[in-house]
Amino acid sequence: MNMISSQQIIEKTLRLGAHNYHPKEVVVERAEGAIVYDPEGRRYFDMLSAYSALNFGHRHPEIVAEAKNQLDKVTLTSRAFHNAVLGDFFEKLCEVTGKNMILPMNTGAEAVETAMKTARRWGVEKKGVADGEQEIIVCENNFHGRTITIISMSTDPSARRAYGPFTPGFKVIKYGDELALEAAITENTVAFLMEPIQGEAGVLIPPEGYLRAVREICTKHNILFIADEVQTGFARTGKMFACQHENVVPDIYVLGKALGGGIMPISAIAADKDILQVFEPGSHGSTFGGNPLACAVAIKSLEILERDNYAEMSAQKGAYFVDKLRQIKNDEIMEIRGKGLLIGMEFSCDAAPYVKKLISAGVLAKETHEHTIRLAPPIIITYEQIDEAYAIISQVLNK
Ligand SMILES: *Cc1c(COP(=O)(O)O)cnc(C)c1O
Repeated sequence: MNMISSQQIIEKTLRLGAHNYHPKEVVVERAEGAIVYDPEGRRYFDMLSAYSALNFGHRHPEIVAEAKNQLDKVTLTSRAFHNAVLGDFFEKLCEVTGKNMILPMNTGAEAVETAMKTARRWGVEKKGVADGEQEIIVCENNFHGRTITIISMSTDPSARRAYGPFTPGFKVIKYGDELALEAAITENTVAFLMEPIQGEAGVLIPPEGYLRAVREICTKHNILFIADEVQTGFARTGKMFACQHENVVPDIYVLGKALGGGIMPISAIAADKDILQVFEPGSHGSTFGGNPLACAVAIKSLEILERDNYAEMSAQKGAYFVDKLRQIKNDEIMEIRGKGLLIGMEFSCDAAPYVKKLISAGVLAKETHEHTIRLAPPIIITYEQIDEAYAIISQVLNK
């Protein structure tokens, strides 16, 4: 039995750590699958899944075994030398994405930065845009990460306050509006960067046909369509990639989160050679990018994703869960929307008090942008666990 209480842990964490987060008042000490436990032994359903990094659940046994196996061989080489796992990782991710080249990094933000570097160089070398004039179009309410360049294209004041000067070269347009995209394109536009479903903005799903229109417009004007699937990718929305809901293939996939199987940070962009050949030695890199431990974990995760058909699991469990949630009687719930197991419940009121009650009752969730509670359990959650979690959620929310 652990003698240190949740309160003591929280106190130390808040005393010594910068307050760039405001975590809910719960300490996770151990976890398995869709369930986590605090030091006092209380049990909770994880309905956030580390923002979809835990699609495989906590400590998936095969992924843990693969990590242990790789720990006993080699964990880190840097890219100064080849390692024995990286090529296999490239091969597997090429197969899953249908692209023929990969550039590995560690975090989602780094993969987004990599995609923007790619687009800017591609614009100069392939499209003849003058270096320094390249423009990238992005959407309102986007979330692409936290670097200074990435927040330069954010429309969230709290992500930007007092961080200037910002990186130029971005144009922000309305999400879900293909006419706005077409109107924003100039001869200097090199790319359109977007999330096929906006996760952090509150699970915002664009109108049907939008992704197809975006694909057509990008092709017509010779600009790169960059899909940030860091959160929506790897079966979260009921397809391997959210772009597949409209049978659309972007020029560049930006991937992260679940790629690391819930164990290691690993991210990547996937594209074809005619695009990724803009990089020559020395032009970009990362010490930990492509490390053999993360690659081994990612390969195993991708194998499991395909073998166990996570996309289908997510689609079916998501439909089952949403059906249940729609039976909740509470006139403060304005809408329940989602694809697969990426579900948003939008309230007419501040959602935080409900989140607090959910956590006390044993369901870990978090509001995004005040009015929306995202429910995104690990894809391995069982139907029995969905039923059990739903019983708690409906008890808290029914009026
Ligand atoms: C989480 C997220 C990122 C950033 O990933 P980090 O690993 O936190 O840097 C980028 N894009 C989207 C859509 C995300 O959800």
